[in-house]
Amino acid sequence: MLKMKNECEACHAATGLMDVAYICSFECTFCEACSTRMGHVCPNCQGTLVLRPTRQRSPLAVGVSQVKQKLLGK
Ligand SMILES: [Zn+2]
Ligand SMILES: [Zn+2]
Repeated sequence: MLKMKNECEACHAATGLMDVAYICSFECTFCEACSTRMGHVCPNCQGTLVLRPTRQRSPLAVGVSQVKQKLLGK
């Protein structure tokens, strides 16, 4: 499961669960402004920064629904 970091690694702006944030595959987390400025490339690992999904449900609920989706083949 992704760790939800709550601040930008570059400028330490808040990137809370409901804020727009960008992450790379190693879970480096950056705010929208920094990600745009860096061309959506992670300065730590050169990975592509992608829009982080916002979390609106509890981790347990998400885990259960993902298992259900796999079981149902959806
Ligand atoms: Zn930032
Ligand atoms: Zn990275």
